[in-house]
Amino acid sequence: MRFLGGYPPGVLEQVRELIAAGRLGDHIARRYPGRHTVQTDRALYEYTTDIKQEYLRSAPPLHKVGFDARLDSAQRALGLHTAISRVQGSKLKAKKEIRVASLFKEAPPEFLRMIVVHELAHLKESDHDKAFYRLCEHMEPRYHQLEFDTRLYLAWRELERAAPAGAGTQASQA
Ligand SMILES: [Zn+2]
Repeated sequence: MRFLGGYPPGVLEQVRELIAAGRLGDHIARRYPGRHTVQTDRALYEYTTDIKQEYLRSAPPLHKVGFDARLDSAQRALGLHTAISRVQGSKLKAKKEIRVASLFKEAPPEFLRMIVVHELAHLKESDHDKAFYRLCEHMEPRYHQLEFDTRLYLAWRELERAAPAGAGTQASQA
């Protein structure tokens, strides 16, 4: 299942049942009813640097933070991080930039936090290894649950695009 590879079969089976019953959207909306006001690149920059100041002071400074609509396509929404290296004189200087898919503007606040924490953790750890996830959990103790639920949300959005609720075909997408 898209976005959810690597999760235990029992969990995926529950997800398939929710999709077949047309209840995935409700399931997410009930648990994450909130919305947030982080709607501009400037607001996202402040939001991100606040978390960085609190938990990752020693990480390299951020040069740029912004929403990017080009990341909205499917799996690019999760896990993008960019370090642009530029040669300045004899020194190699890495510019740290965080781009967040603009679909997170309308996502629940918990999912925005998850993606920002994820990208911040990449300032110190480039791979998705134990040290990386420890850092994510340091910034957000519910990190693992939130990453799973964000993946559910992305899967649901894709199903909605393919067959909007009420079209009567959502069950076949499972
Ligand atoms: Zn990543």
